[in-house]
Amino acid sequence: MPAKKKSAKLLRCPTCGMLVRFNDEDFPFCSDRCRKIDLGKWASGVYKISSPVLDPEVLEDLGGLTGDRGEDQNNNE
Ligand SMILES: [Zn+2]
Repeated sequence: MPAKKKSAKLLRCPTCGMLVRFNDEDFPFCSDRCRKIDLGKWASGVYKISSPVLDPEVLEDLGGLTGDRGEDQNNNE
């Protein structure tokens, strides 16, 4: 088969960005693994809606609050 024709459609894998041929087994993903990773993203997206999100920045704020207990407040009076 001559592979010089550029008629074959190429798409980028939504997961890793690799080029995937239109007639590839796992199209539009480059592999079964990437397909599963993408499915996992959707699943975690659904979970995020119904469960509280622990943002790293929020956790940092909480840590800062417990570290600073306002000791100066009682010292002046
Ligand atoms: Zn991929």
